[in-house]
Amino acid sequence: MKRPNVIRRSGAKIMASLVVLLGSLSYIMVLAIITGSLGFIFAMGVTLLGAVAIAKFLGEAIALSYPLIFSLLIGFGVLRGILRYIEQYTNHYIAFRLLAVLRDKIFSALRTLFPSKIESKQKGSIIAMITSDIEILEVFYAHTISPIFIAIVVSISVILFVGFSSSWLLAVNALISYIVIGILLPLITSKKLKVSGVRYRQNFAAFNSFFLDSIKGIKDIVLNNGGPKREVEVNERSDMLLNETKKLKKDTTRAHATTELFVSIFIFITLVLGAILVIRDNLTIGRMIIGVAAIFGSFGPVIAISSLPSNLTQTFAAGDRVLDLLNEKPLITKIDNGSDFEFENVTVSNVSFAYAENEEILNDVSVHANKGEIVGIVGPSGCGKSTLLKLLLRFYKKDEGTILYNDIEIENINSDNLLDNVTMVSQDTYLFDDTILENLLIAKRDATLKEVEIACKKASIYDFIVSLPQGFNSRVGVFGDNISAGEKQRIGLARAFLRGSKLILLDEPTSNVDSINEGIILRALKIHKEDRGIILVSHRESTMAIADRVYRFNGEIVEEVEDK
Ligand code: ADP
Repeated sequence: MKRPNVIRRSGAKIMASLVVLLGSLSYIMVLAIITGSLGFIFAMGVTLLGAVAIAKFLGEAIALSYPLIFSLLIGFGVLRGILRYIEQYTNHYIAFRLLAVLRDKIFSALRTLFPSKIESKQKGSIIAMITSDIEILEVFYAHTISPIFIAIVVSISVILFVGFSSSWLLAVNALISYIVIGILLPLITSKKLKVSGVRYRQNFAAFNSFFLDSIKGIKDIVLNNGGPKREVEVNERSDMLLNETKKLKKDTTRAHATTELFVSIFIFITLVLGAILVIRDNLTIGRMIIGVAAIFGSFGPVIAISSLPSNLTQTFAAGDRVLDLLNEKPLITKIDNGSDFEFENVTVSNVSFAYAENEEILNDVSVHANKGEIVGIVGPSGCGKSTLLKLLLRFYKKDEGTILYNDIEIENINSDNLLDNVTMVSQDTYLFDDTILENLLIAKRDATLKEVEIACKKASIYDFIVSLPQGFNSRVGVFGDNISAGEKQRIGLARAFLRGSKLILLDEPTSNVDSINEGIILRALKIHKEDRGIILVSHRESTMAIADRVYRFNGEIVEEVEDK
C-alpha cells in the first residue's frame, strides 16, 4: 500500500498539535527539559572547573580552593550522570505512555469511523499507521522536544555565563555559532536529506510489502514453481534498497561531517578571538581560558539539533497522518436518541446507493422480509448484494429511498438497538487467535455455557467442538488456521444464534465451503427460522433452494419469485 508523502500541515503546526496531545504528561516533559539542561550544564562544569583551576594557577583571583574545585569536579560528574538518567527515563516514560494513549485514541477513532474506513482501500495505510507511524512518534516524544528546549536553555546559559564571567565579544561569537550550527546548517542540509529520506522510506515500504506478499503467497509460488523467479526479484529489490540505504547514509554522513567542520571552525575562531582579546589587554588570560572552555564544551546540544532533520520529516509525515485520522469525522454518526424496535419485518423501498459519486451500485431497489421466513437474494458477483446488506446494518447511508424496520425509518433507530436486532454472517467469518469459547463469546459477553452450547447445536458445530481434545477451550490459531472454512462459517452462524438477533443476514455463507458443509448450514437455517427472519444472499442458484421467496438481483430487483 502506497502511502502519501505529502505533509499537509506545517511542521510547526504538527509539533504544536503533538505537544498538545501530551496533556498532563507535559509536566514530566518540563522535568525532562530541566534535568537535561542541568545535566549538560554540569557536564560543561567539569571542563570549566578544570579551566578555573588553570586560571587560578595562572594567578586569576578565584575564591575557590583547589580541594573545593576538585570536590566540585567529582560532584558535577556524578550529578551529570544522575541528571542524564532522569532525563532519559522521563523522556522514555512519556514516549511510551503516550504511544499507548495514541494507540487507544486511534482504535477509538477507527471504531467510530467503521466501516467506511476499514472497508475502503485505506486498510493498508491504517495498519501501517498503527505499527510504524506510532513507533516513529516515539522518536518525537523521546528525542525531539526536549533536545530542542535543552539546546535553547543551555545555549542561553552559556552565552550569559561567558558574557558575565569572561567577555561579551566571546558571548556574541558563541551566539552566532549556535545560530549557524543549530538553525542555518540544518535548514540547508534538511532539503537534501528530505529527498533521500523519502526515497529510502518508499523503497523500504515497497520491499517490505513485496516480501510479506511473497511469504503470504508461498504456497502458490511453490505450486507454480515460481521460487527461482521470485528469489531473483527479492534479490533485485534488496539490492535496490541497499543502494538507497547507501545514498541516505552518504547524505547523512556528509551532513554530520559539515556540522563537525563548522564546530571546529567556530572553536578556532573562538580561540583566535580569545587570543586577540588577551593580546590587546581586553581580557586576562585566566578569564579567556574560562570563556573559551565554556564555549568549547557547549556544542553538544546544538549538534543534537542539527542531526534532527533526517528524522523530523519522517516524524512530521507520521504525525500528520495520525492527526488526520484523529480529526476525521465519521461518515455515519451513532444514533442514541432515536427509537427502539423488536424485529417483525423490514421493507426496503426504491433504495439507491453509490460508494463514490456517479458510480451507482444500487438503483431503485425494493425488498421485503418478515420474521419466520428465509428470503433469498441471488445475482452475479459484484451486482451489489453485500452492499444492500450493509445498508440494512446502516454501515453506509443510502442515497435515496427508505428502509423501514417495523415501519420505523432506519435513520431514526438507535444504533445499538439496530445491531441487537440485526446481525450478519459474512462469507469470511473472522476468528481471533484465541479459544473457540472466547471467539463465540464476542457475540454475547455474559452468555452462560449452556447458551453457548445451544447456539452451537443450532449451528451444527457442537459435535465438532466437543470432539476436539480441549473442546471449547481449543485454540483456533492465527487467522483461524486450525479450523476449516466450513467450521469457521458454522462458528460464525453460532455467533449469530448466540447474539439472539431476530434478523440474520447471511452474505454468501456457503461460498467457501464444500457441499456437505453447505447442506449442514442450510439445514440449520431452515430448522431455526421460526422466530427470526433470515436474508440469504448468494450468487449460487442452488443455495436458494431453501428460501421461501427469492429476489433476482442485478443492481435493481428484476424479478421476485414468490412462495417457492
Ligand atoms: P456482491 O455482494 O453482489 O458481490 P458487492 O455489494 O460486494 O457485490 O459490490 C458491488 C460493487 O461495489 C462492486 O463493484 C464492488 O467493487 C463495489 N464495492 C464494494 N464495496 C465497496 C467499498 N467499500 N467502496 C467502494 N466500492 C465498493
